[in-house]
Amino acid sequence: MTFRHLQGSGMTSQRTRNRMIMRLIEKGITDERVLRVMQTTPRHIFVDEALASRAYEDTALPIGYNQTISQPYIVARMTELLLEHRQSLPRVLEIGTGCGYQTAILAQLVENVYSVERILPLQKKAITHTELLQLKNIRYAYSDGSWGWAEFAPYDGILVAAAPTEVPEALLQQLAVGGVMLIPVGEQGGDQTLQRITRTENYFEVEELDPVIFVPFLAGKE
Ligand code: SAH
Repeated sequence: MTFRHLQGSGMTSQRTRNRMIMRLIEKGITDERVLRVMQTTPRHIFVDEALASRAYEDTALPIGYNQTISQPYIVARMTELLLEHRQSLPRVLEIGTGCGYQTAILAQLVENVYSVERILPLQKKAITHTELLQLKNIRYAYSDGSWGWAEFAPYDGILVAAAPTEVPEALLQQLAVGGVMLIPVGEQGGDQTLQRITRTENYFEVEELDPVIFVPFLAGKE
Protein backbone atom coordinates (compact mmCIF):
# COMPACT_ATOMS: atom_id res chain seq x y z
CA MET A 1 0.00 0.00 0.00
CA THR A 2 1.39 3.37 -1.01
CA PHE A 3 1.48 6.65 0.89
CA ARG A 4 -1.07 7.96 -1.61
CA HIS A 5 -3.46 5.12 -0.78
CA LEU A 6 -3.05 5.77 2.95
CA GLN A 7 -3.78 9.45 2.44
CA GLY A 8 -6.77 8.71 0.23
CA SER A 9 -8.33 10.69 -2.59
CA GLY A 10 -11.86 11.60 -3.70
CA MET A 11 -14.30 9.90 -1.34
CA THR A 12 -11.41 8.82 0.91
CA SER A 13 -9.60 12.16 0.97
CA GLN A 14 -8.76 14.41 3.89
CA ARG A 15 -11.70 16.63 2.91
CA THR A 16 -14.08 13.69 3.32
CA ARG A 17 -12.51 12.87 6.70
CA ASN A 18 -12.99 16.50 7.75
CA ARG A 19 -16.69 16.24 6.91
CA MET A 20 -16.95 13.16 9.15
CA ILE A 21 -15.40 15.19 11.96
CA MET A 22 -17.95 17.97 11.45
CA ARG A 23 -20.73 15.40 11.80
CA LEU A 24 -19.19 14.02 15.01
CA ILE A 25 -19.10 17.54 16.45
CA GLU A 26 -22.74 18.09 15.42
CA LYS A 27 -23.66 14.87 17.23
CA GLY A 28 -22.02 16.11 20.43
CA ILE A 29 -18.42 14.83 20.46
CA THR A 30 -16.26 17.50 22.11
CA ASP A 31 -12.94 15.92 23.10
CA GLU A 32 -10.30 17.58 20.91
CA ARG A 33 -7.87 14.68 21.30
CA VAL A 34 -10.41 12.20 19.96
CA LEU A 35 -11.47 14.45 17.10
CA ARG A 36 -7.86 15.11 16.06
CA VAL A 37 -6.94 11.41 15.97
CA MET A 38 -10.09 10.48 14.04
CA GLN A 39 -9.40 13.27 11.60
CA THR A 40 -5.99 11.87 10.71
CA THR A 41 -6.67 8.12 10.84
CA PRO A 42 -7.60 6.67 7.42
CA ARG A 43 -10.73 4.58 8.13
CA HIS A 44 -10.86 3.51 4.47
CA ILE A 45 -7.89 1.15 4.86
CA PHE A 46 -9.87 -0.86 7.45
CA VAL A 47 -12.66 -1.87 5.05
CA ASP A 48 -12.70 -3.77 1.76
CA GLU A 49 -11.76 -1.81 -1.35
CA ALA A 50 -15.38 -1.99 -2.58
CA LEU A 51 -16.60 -0.16 0.55
CA ALA A 52 -13.78 2.39 0.77
CA SER A 53 -15.92 5.16 -0.73
CA ARG A 54 -18.37 4.73 2.18
CA ALA A 55 -15.72 4.62 4.90
CA TYR A 56 -16.43 8.16 6.14
CA GLU A 57 -20.20 7.81 6.35
CA ASP A 58 -21.27 7.66 9.97
CA THR A 59 -22.38 4.03 9.75
CA ALA A 60 -21.23 0.55 10.65
CA LEU A 61 -20.03 -1.42 7.59
CA PRO A 62 -19.54 -5.16 7.05
CA ILE A 63 -16.02 -6.55 7.60
CA GLY A 64 -16.85 -10.22 6.94
CA TYR A 65 -17.60 -13.13 9.31
CA ASN A 66 -20.97 -11.53 10.20
CA GLN A 67 -19.20 -8.64 11.92
CA THR A 68 -19.09 -4.88 11.36
CA ILE A 69 -16.64 -2.04 11.80
CA SER A 70 -18.17 0.16 14.51
CA GLN A 71 -19.90 3.40 13.52
CA PRO A 72 -17.50 6.40 13.81
CA TYR A 73 -19.83 8.14 16.28
CA ILE A 74 -19.82 5.20 18.68
CA VAL A 75 -16.02 4.86 18.43
CA ALA A 76 -15.68 8.57 19.24
CA ARG A 77 -18.25 8.43 22.04
CA MET A 78 -16.73 5.40 23.79
CA THR A 79 -13.21 6.79 23.46
CA GLU A 80 -14.30 10.16 24.81
CA LEU A 81 -16.00 8.53 27.80
CA LEU A 82 -12.92 6.43 28.44
CA LEU A 83 -10.60 9.44 28.44
CA GLU A 84 -12.91 11.74 30.42
CA HIS A 85 -11.20 13.14 33.52
CA ARG A 86 -8.01 11.25 32.71
CA GLN A 87 -4.66 12.60 31.61
CA SER A 88 -3.18 9.22 30.86
CA LEU A 89 -4.20 5.59 30.63
CA PRO A 90 -1.20 3.26 30.93
CA ARG A 91 -3.10 0.07 30.03
CA VAL A 92 -6.34 -0.34 28.11
CA LEU A 93 -8.00 -3.69 27.34
CA GLU A 94 -10.19 -3.89 24.24
CA ILE A 95 -12.54 -6.83 23.70
CA GLY A 96 -13.57 -7.33 20.05
CA THR A 97 -10.67 -6.17 17.87
CA GLY A 98 -12.63 -6.65 14.63
CA CYS A 99 -10.78 -4.91 11.81
CA GLY A 100 -8.75 -2.84 14.29
CA TYR A 101 -10.16 0.66 13.71
CA GLN A 102 -11.10 1.33 17.33
CA THR A 103 -7.78 -0.27 18.32
CA ALA A 104 -5.91 2.20 16.11
CA ILE A 105 -7.76 5.18 17.57
CA LEU A 106 -7.06 4.01 21.12
CA ALA A 107 -3.39 3.32 20.41
CA GLN A 108 -2.88 6.96 19.51
CA LEU A 109 -4.48 8.19 22.75
CA VAL A 110 -3.38 5.79 25.50
CA GLU A 111 -0.04 4.24 26.40
CA ASN A 112 -0.69 0.55 25.70
CA VAL A 113 -3.58 -1.32 24.11
CA TYR A 114 -4.29 -5.02 24.73
CA SER A 115 -6.84 -6.24 22.22
CA VAL A 116 -8.70 -9.58 22.23
CA GLU A 117 -10.60 -11.13 19.29
CA ARG A 118 -12.29 -14.55 18.94
CA ILE A 119 -12.23 -14.71 15.09
CA LEU A 120 -8.68 -15.33 13.86
CA PRO A 121 -8.95 -13.93 10.29
CA LEU A 122 -10.29 -10.65 11.70
CA GLN A 123 -7.41 -10.43 14.13
CA LYS A 124 -5.02 -10.95 11.21
CA LYS A 125 -6.66 -8.12 9.29
CA ALA A 126 -6.37 -5.84 12.31
CA ILE A 127 -2.67 -6.62 12.69
CA THR A 128 -2.06 -5.76 9.01
CA HIS A 129 -4.02 -2.49 9.30
CA THR A 130 -2.33 -1.24 12.46
CA GLU A 131 1.12 -2.22 11.13
CA LEU A 132 0.43 -0.10 8.05
CA LEU A 133 -0.15 2.82 10.40
CA GLN A 134 3.06 1.92 12.25
CA LEU A 135 1.34 1.67 15.61
CA LYS A 136 3.62 -0.22 17.96
CA ASN A 137 1.92 -0.06 21.36
CA ILE A 138 -0.67 -2.79 20.67
CA ARG A 139 -0.66 -6.44 21.74
CA TYR A 140 -3.17 -8.87 20.29
CA ALA A 141 -4.67 -12.04 21.74
CA TYR A 142 -6.76 -14.64 19.89
CA SER A 143 -9.12 -15.66 22.64
CA ASP A 144 -12.64 -15.52 24.08
CA GLY A 145 -12.76 -12.12 25.74
CA SER A 146 -15.12 -13.42 28.44
CA TRP A 147 -11.91 -14.25 30.28
CA GLY A 148 -10.33 -10.85 29.74
CA TRP A 149 -6.54 -11.01 29.50
CA ALA A 150 -5.22 -11.82 32.96
CA GLU A 151 -1.53 -11.55 32.05
CA PHE A 152 -1.49 -7.75 31.86
CA ALA A 153 -4.27 -6.96 34.36
CA PRO A 154 -5.28 -4.74 36.06
CA TYR A 155 -6.40 -2.32 33.33
CA ASP A 156 -7.01 1.40 33.71
CA GLY A 157 -9.61 1.17 30.99
CA ILE A 158 -11.65 -1.60 29.35
CA LEU A 159 -13.61 -1.07 26.16
CA VAL A 160 -15.95 -3.79 24.89
CA ALA A 161 -17.16 -3.73 21.25
CA ALA A 162 -19.79 -6.50 21.41
CA ALA A 163 -22.84 -6.78 23.67
CA PRO A 164 -23.10 -9.50 26.34
CA THR A 165 -26.36 -9.97 28.26
CA GLU A 166 -24.39 -9.58 31.49
CA VAL A 167 -21.01 -8.03 32.24
CA PRO A 168 -18.43 -10.86 32.37
CA GLU A 169 -17.07 -11.29 35.90
CA ALA A 170 -13.46 -11.58 34.72
CA LEU A 171 -13.62 -8.12 33.16
CA LEU A 172 -14.80 -6.59 36.46
CA GLN A 173 -11.99 -8.38 38.28
CA GLN A 174 -9.37 -7.13 35.81
CA LEU A 175 -10.42 -3.48 36.12
CA ALA A 176 -8.02 -1.42 38.27
CA VAL A 177 -9.33 0.63 41.18
CA GLY A 178 -10.10 4.01 39.62
CA GLY A 179 -10.40 2.33 36.21
CA VAL A 180 -13.37 2.65 33.87
CA MET A 181 -15.09 0.12 31.59
CA LEU A 182 -17.34 0.99 28.64
CA ILE A 183 -19.58 -1.90 27.69
CA PRO A 184 -22.86 -2.34 25.78
CA VAL A 185 -25.17 -4.69 27.68
CA GLY A 186 -28.37 -6.32 26.44
CA GLU A 187 -30.02 -8.87 24.18
CA GLN A 188 -29.25 -9.19 20.48
CA GLY A 189 -31.88 -7.30 18.52
CA GLY A 190 -33.37 -6.07 21.82
CA ASP A 191 -32.62 -3.14 24.05
CA GLN A 192 -28.94 -2.60 24.62
CA THR A 193 -27.51 0.12 26.84
CA LEU A 194 -24.00 1.51 26.92
CA GLN A 195 -22.79 1.25 30.51
CA ARG A 196 -19.87 3.02 32.12
CA ILE A 197 -18.60 1.07 35.09
CA THR A 198 -16.10 2.76 37.40
CA ARG A 199 -14.28 0.76 40.05
CA THR A 200 -13.80 2.46 43.40
CA GLU A 201 -12.01 1.04 46.47
CA ASN A 202 -15.17 -0.68 47.64
CA TYR A 203 -17.66 -1.04 44.81
CA PHE A 204 -18.46 -0.71 41.10
CA GLU A 205 -20.38 2.40 40.10
CA VAL A 206 -22.62 1.65 37.11
CA GLU A 207 -23.94 4.47 34.89
CA GLU A 208 -26.46 3.63 32.16
CA LEU A 209 -25.74 5.97 29.26
CA ASP A 210 -26.99 5.64 25.68
CA PRO A 211 -29.23 3.13 23.89
CA VAL A 212 -26.93 1.34 21.41
CA ILE A 213 -26.83 -1.45 18.81
CA PHE A 214 -23.87 -3.83 18.87
CA VAL A 215 -23.18 -7.31 17.52
CA PRO A 216 -23.55 -10.03 20.17
CA PHE A 217 -20.73 -10.97 22.52
CA LEU A 218 -20.14 -14.66 21.77
CA ALA A 219 -18.44 -17.42 23.72
CA GLY A 220 -15.54 -19.54 22.47
CA LYS A 221 -13.22 -19.08 19.48
CA GLU A 222 -13.80 -19.45 15.72
N1 SAH B 1 -14.20 -2.18 17.05
C1 SAH B 1 -14.35 -3.22 16.08
C2 SAH B 1 -15.71 -3.84 16.26
C3 SAH B 1 -15.90 -5.12 15.58
S1 SAH B 1 -17.47 -5.87 15.86
C4 SAH B 1 -14.20 -2.61 14.69
O1 SAH B 1 -14.48 -1.44 14.56
O2 SAH B 1 -13.84 -3.31 13.75
C5 SAH B 1 -17.23 -6.68 17.40
C6 SAH B 1 -16.14 -7.71 17.45
O3 SAH B 1 -16.24 -8.36 18.70
C7 SAH B 1 -16.24 -8.80 16.38
O4 SAH B 1 -15.04 -8.84 15.67
C8 SAH B 1 -16.48 -10.06 17.19
O5 SAH B 1 -15.86 -11.22 16.62
C9 SAH B 1 -15.85 -9.70 18.51
N2 SAH B 1 -16.31 -10.49 19.65
C10 SAH B 1 -17.57 -10.87 19.98
N3 SAH B 1 -17.58 -11.60 21.11
C11 SAH B 1 -16.28 -11.69 21.52
C12 SAH B 1 -15.62 -12.34 22.60
N4 SAH B 1 -16.28 -13.07 23.52
N5 SAH B 1 -14.27 -12.22 22.70
C13 SAH B 1 -13.56 -11.52 21.79
N6 SAH B 1 -14.12 -10.89 20.73
C14 SAH B 1 -15.46 -10.98 20.60
